[in-house]
Amino acid sequence: MDSEAVVVGASAVGGVCAKELSSLGVQTLLLEEHPAPGKFHKCSGIMSKKGLASLGVSLDGIVLNEVKGARLFSERHELKIATSHSQAVVINRQAFDERAVFEAQEAGAKLVCNSRAEKFSSKGGTVSVQSKSGTHSAKFLVGCDGASSTVAREFGFPKLEAKDFVSAWEGEFTGLKVGEPDLVQLYFDQKLFTNFFGWLIPVDETTARIGFATNSFESIRASKEAFLKSNLLSGAEFGSASCACAREFNYVIPIKMRPKTQLGNVLLCGDAAGQVKATTGGGVVFGGKCAKIAAACVSESIKTGKPLDYETRWRKSLGKNLRMHELIRSAYSRMNDSLISAFLFLAGIGLKGAIERFGDMDFIVKE
Ligand SMILES: Cc1cc2nc3c(=O)[nH]c(=O)nc-3n(C[C@H](O)[C@H](O)[C@H](O)COP(=O)(O)OP(=O)(O)OC[C@H]3O[C@@H](n4cnc5c(N)ncnc54)[C@H](O)[C@@H]3O)c2cc1C
Repeated sequence: MDSEAVVVGASAVGGVCAKELSSLGVQTLLLEEHPAPGKFHKCSGIMSKKGLASLGVSLDGIVLNEVKGARLFSERHELKIATSHSQAVVINRQAFDERAVFEAQEAGAKLVCNSRAEKFSSKGGTVSVQSKSGTHSAKFLVGCDGASSTVAREFGFPKLEAKDFVSAWEGEFTGLKVGEPDLVQLYFDQKLFTNFFGWLIPVDETTARIGFATNSFESIRASKEAFLKSNLLSGAEFGSASCACAREFNYVIPIKMRPKTQLGNVLLCGDAAGQVKATTGGGVVFGGKCAKIAAACVSESIKTGKPLDYETRWRKSLGKNLRMHELIRSAYSRMNDSLISAFLFLAGIGLKGAIERFGDMDFIVKE
């Protein structure tokens, strides 16, 4: 065997997984299809401070902004929810991914880029991966290969359907006047952003990430045009002569946990496992936490010879919260714009104080 564990995908979750495995003394090979690791900024990069810190990756030079709350806009209401101290950070996502992978290499993991894992087989407790860089075998395989996971497909994990994804667009715009750089803006409009929402995430006083997601895949282009022309963004002087789009992208986000994430010695983590908050589409913290659990399970199994219990362990520690995010999203998708406005109005009276005092972006119930 080339190694004890092969991790497929060297982005945030694969990097955290490979680092944890190597730190626990597991011989680890990390395969990445692209010439370099990372998601290349295809992410808004906003995460809870606490959640991100728990992944154990150094954040030196990676945090671009700190956020204290949000301004929520619906058809007829506006609600500001903010705390006195920052709860979330906006990061340079590509730099974070590269750092996670670098730390994995420092801990002993071997990274092979330009190495798309394509064919797999499993026999007598050994998993083989055929990739552009050759055939690699190991006792454990961890698929951290994102929303369209080849590992999940090739090993016959239960499928996620099209309805279990949203489609997203985002652009990073410069030359804006961001009035409140410590507040995110969220726009609720079921016609423009069906069953999801639009956002403006400040990077600094003049730069913001503006985007939206929808489960109406066919209307993404029309929604983008309507959003950018709408008056939702006017406060930031969007569209002024100085405003320019530095980069933009389209991508999908899974919003449902995959019913099974472990088949024998093959595990899935991150977007490949649907370990994403269905309310916001945020997947780095939960995916990374699950990757650490996967690494601990693999290391224990090597030491004790006992079978892996990854599926039970991550669901026990994080499943309740991910399920709650799914339930909230499902309730939201049944609301029309008038009901959303009424909800924001009532939240302004009754819930605001509680959210501000106890609000946690990730953990909304006790596990
Ligand atoms: C518009 C948008 C905004 C988002 N904003 C946020 C946010 O603000 N906060 C947040 O927490 N999350 C956010 N997310 C979600 C977040 O980006 C994902 O949850 C996160 O990237 C998942 O990480 P991952 O490592 O599981 O998968 P990915 O980041 O998708 O990485 C998969 C890796 O596997 C590699 N790969 C794929 N197939 C193979 C193969 N066969 N062989 C070898 N390598 C392979 C890919 O090249 C890639 O490097 C956002 C997503 C979108 C689309």
